[in-house]
Amino acid sequence: MANTPYPQSYYAASANTVPAHPALQQEVETDVCVIGAGYTGLSSALFLLENGFRVTVLEAAKVGFGASGRNGGQIVNSYSRDIDVIERSVGPKQAQLLGQMAFEGGRIIRDRVARYQIQCDLKDGGVFAAITGKQMGHLEAQKRLWERYGHSQLELLDKTRIREVVACEQYVGGMLDMSGGHIHPLNLALGEAAAVESLGGTIYEQSPAVRIERGANPVVHTPTGKVRAKFIIVAGNAYLGNLVPELAAKSMPCGTQVITTEPLGEALANSLLPQDYCVEDCNYLLDYYRLSGDKRLIFGGGVVYGARDPANIEAIIRPKMLKAFPQLKDVKIDYAWTGNFLLTLSRLPQVGRLGDNIYYSQGCSGHGVTYTHLAGKVLAEALRGQAERFDAFADLPHYPFPGGQLLRTPFAALGAWYYGLRDKFDF
Ligand SMILES: Cc1cc2nc3c(=O)[nH]c(=O)nc-3n(C[C@H](O)[C@H](O)[C@H](O)COP(=O)(O)OP(=O)(O)OC[C@H]3O[C@@H](n4cnc5c(N)ncnc54)[C@H](O)[C@@H]3O)c2cc1C
Repeated sequence: MANTPYPQSYYAASANTVPAHPALQQEVETDVCVIGAGYTGLSSALFLLENGFRVTVLEAAKVGFGASGRNGGQIVNSYSRDIDVIERSVGPKQAQLLGQMAFEGGRIIRDRVARYQIQCDLKDGGVFAAITGKQMGHLEAQKRLWERYGHSQLELLDKTRIREVVACEQYVGGMLDMSGGHIHPLNLALGEAAAVESLGGTIYEQSPAVRIERGANPVVHTPTGKVRAKFIIVAGNAYLGNLVPELAAKSMPCGTQVITTEPLGEALANSLLPQDYCVEDCNYLLDYYRLSGDKRLIFGGGVVYGARDPANIEAIIRPKMLKAFPQLKDVKIDYAWTGNFLLTLSRLPQVGRLGDNIYYSQGCSGHGVTYTHLAGKVLAEALRGQAERFDAFADLPHYPFPGGQLLRTPFAALGAWYYGLRDKFDF
């Protein structure tokens, strides 16, 4: 059987040492079979185990192999579409529930890190940086909106204040969220996997689910084993392929790329980001960056619709980094990698149930570090029979991509091109 390794990322190179998990070689019985050991799967598993369920996790490659072990590491609150859009789409009562949950994922991460002593370089503080006056106006409106839902820790930064937290001349202002922050994403996933095992859960790596036998007593098949379960949670997100065709039809995997510099040294690193906050700009196709624990700059951006791997990642991302920080022109890039996130047409997550016993959450469309942790909790609540918060997500409309699987990529790229022009020319 193929043994799929991690991509050659900075995270894989600096991962905490953990034991590998075996591949499934037999038939096992469990309460819940979770497909995918990213944050969605691991968070679901942890909440379920804490509530007395027996849990078996199947991972096609390795824990955190997908977006959860490759992302920018930014703890960004809320969803990829804001609550005003949700309000218009589903009405005030459901929006209220979703709005209240918008900052819960970050709290779950901090709770996990503290409770299970996870070493993942957790730092507080995230900045949304505005490049245009229009974007600054949007941040002001967003602050008012989030405050309506009880999130009052946000601080607007004027042009002078934002220079104190990031040495980038492009920005006219920004917004600081001290409940945001950053982590070493793979080490967070590895720590969560260790927590799953400490609670009696079982994780099988190199064990792709290749077929689901649906029905009252579902069975998940891998190439060399099977799992009989009362419930299944599908958490394969952008790496799921066509295992569940209904889910593939209404989402699109997209690639985004990350580079990591050589260690910058304390002085240069602190001159770029003196408070060690993470930053993302407000463009539709946004840039995001932060310092690592050993003071490298980790810089991400760019989107490849349809998730084809670009040939030269450094050539795409380095110019973006130099636009933000020309002072890094002589700095070497040590790592460059790509990873896939799952886009939905509404840019809101898709949560639901197939039949009585197959649950899923997917498609947080770029911002998923916090949402996926919340999703695990919400899915676990639903399996325990408390579905109010699950239903609030499940009732969000799901749309198929126009053009189906063949034409969804050019359609989405066209949309992004339009929004890219809007960012550039500020219309
Ligand atoms: C490069 C990049 C940068 C990002 N930066 C940020 C950021 O800074 N902040 C932020 O909030 N969000 C960011 N995101 C998004 C965020 O990382 C994701 O939304 C989130 O990690 C998704 O978690 P997940 O568990 O749903 O999916 P994944 O982490 O992708 O996990 C899915 C897992 O399922 C496994 N799997 C798939 N199919 C099967 C199968 N058939 N059988 C068994 N296992 C299977 C895969 O191998 C994978 O390990 C970024 C994404 C990328 C790609």
